[in-house]
Amino acid sequence: YKTIVEGTTKVSVPVPPPDATFPPSAAPVFYNPEMELNRDINVAATAAFVKRLLSRKELLREEVRYVDAFSASGIRGLRIAGEVGIHATMNDWSPEAFELIKENIKINGLEEKTLATRKSANVLLHEQKYHIVDIDPFGTPSPFLDAASASVRSMLSVTATDTAPLCGAHLKAGIRKYAAVPLNTEYHSEMGLRVLLGACARELAKHEKGMSPLLSHVTRHYVRAYLDVLPGTKQTDRTLKSIGFSIHCPKCGFRGPVYGLAVHIEKECPVCGASTQIAGPLWLGPFREQAFCDEVISELEVHPLNTKDKAKKIITFCRDELDIPMFYDQHVICKELGASATGIEILIIALKAHGFEASRTHFSGTSFRTDAPIAEIKEIIRALSE
Ligand code: SAM
Repeated sequence: YKTIVEGTTKVSVPVPPPDATFPPSAAPVFYNPEMELNRDINVAATAAFVKRLLSRKELLREEVRYVDAFSASGIRGLRIAGEVGIHATMNDWSPEAFELIKENIKINGLEEKTLATRKSANVLLHEQKYHIVDIDPFGTPSPFLDAASASVRSMLSVTATDTAPLCGAHLKAGIRKYAAVPLNTEYHSEMGLRVLLGACARELAKHEKGMSPLLSHVTRHYVRAYLDVLPGTKQTDRTLKSIGFSIHCPKCGFRGPVYGLAVHIEKECPVCGASTQIAGPLWLGPFREQAFCDEVISELEVHPLNTKDKAKKIITFCRDELDIPMFYDQHVICKELGASATGIEILIIALKAHGFEASRTHFSGTSFRTDAPIAEIKEIIRALSE
């Protein structure tokens, strides 16, 4: 074991054997240093959300309950207790993890603000209600979304590391886990995010809770979402209006949303007449709230975080993305046209100069969103290349 520091929290974690695979699955308790960015953003996003919660004047800070349902070393929950200052429950069913969590609580002197539990996450979440439920399991969160939705009162934070099923690379696994058909296109990362958000909305709906995404991002090999939970049938029905399908034309690159669950979907591409592909059900609404992104950015400034600059960049990109589902990739279009790519900023300026809306995305450096029709996008890219 060695002691590491993230933010202002000290945590004892196992040193993986030198020949361990990555992430270090051979270690008795899981700790992945690569997820520090995810945890740093979690500190800032949870701090921002707690401020909102307290401003409603229904709760005192010491009454807010957060659960880190898959805690391993306890680092995620400890950071929330120590750096955000609310009560955190750290749960893990592994005996080694449970002992380590208790030791790490002592190291940080957080006995008053924390509780360690050793339960099956689903059992704990069905037994107890928490204002903020954070689920960060191995791989897919899908088997835990029902219990998390039952437990949560105010914010649901979810990590999914099963990007291959979510993004359509492992199609059948994606269908099994999320009851949605993904499409493996150039915007597969956004597909994964929208499959996950759609699944969360449907799980919450069973418990008569609606949702509104506060912040979500796809970083490296995981998807992370922070969802404002809105109890009540009215909010739930309104939430489900953002569920629908996405049409994709493999021939010309046309893509478009179709809202609703029982809807008529034309098979022919409206642009070129080729046979289209359909993905869904998906979340088609905004995947972040701009004001919340600003609040998170402010929190990043006040907390000492190692990954602050990276975190700020991701959240700024998220904030500034247009709310138009399914980004385009400049390189994919260039390849089809035999055109050469310009800098992405030049393309954005050109699209705007033609009277369209356009923005970059946080998903990749070559991606962009626009309300321009595919034919116009191609014209503009062709002209820039010449
Ligand atoms: N949240 C941690 C962090 O940020 O470092 C990482 C958690 S790790 C990905 C998943 C943990 O969940 C493991 O420690 C494992 O023992 C625990 N776990 C897996 N299935 C569980 C279940 N059904 N109930 C409770 N704990 C579980």
